[in-house]
Amino acid sequence: MSRRIAIGAVALAGTAFGVPAGAHAHSGEHDELPRDALLFLLPNTVLYSGTQSNCCILGLHTYDLELGDDTNGNQERRYVVSIATWLSPGVLSGPEDVSALSHELVEAVNDPFVGTDGVHNLTPWWQEPLGRCQNKNELGDVVEELPGAVFTLTMPQMTYHLQNAGLLSWFQPGHASTAIDAAFSYPDETLLTAPTPLLPPFCQ
Ligand SMILES: [Zn+2]
Repeated sequence: MSRRIAIGAVALAGTAFGVPAGAHAHSGEHDELPRDALLFLLPNTVLYSGTQSNCCILGLHTYDLELGDDTNGNQERRYVVSIATWLSPGVLSGPEDVSALSHELVEAVNDPFVGTDGVHNLTPWWQEPLGRCQNKNELGDVVEELPGAVFTLTMPQMTYHLQNAGLLSWFQPGHASTAIDAAFSYPDETLLTAPTPLLPPFCQ
């Protein structure tokens, strides 16, 4: 069986999405409003960073920033945008179908503006198993590199491969979890059993 996978680079400038500088972002047939959460679900399409050797990014979430105008008191407008790939069986080992979608959705809901105001959705510094360090409330990134990051959910028509997520309590070094079952991850509560260790800024 031959498999096809598309590799591409996506520029997140407004024009890449056909977004004019104006009141509404346009996505296909309808105007996106600031209360919307736009999601591109791409079949077997992954991204790379800079060069193809930095492959493969399965999705991302961000926002498009547009200026306000007289009609809204010149307040800036933010349009939440996410991209995720739907992977066919066997394209990559591990993530499949809704793995990337579930990862990006849990993050877009919990950290829609990616900590950009420097106040909301920031966390103590923490590190992924492969070394990436950050201080943002990215609940999918917390577990994505762990064995068992993906869990399966069998429905009548299909078995889906969702990604587990960390829980807020994981970001509190030295504290017990306040979540149901005192869990640090969901829905597989065995994935994380203790909060992140206390790390210095930038994990250095
Ligand atoms: Zn993520």
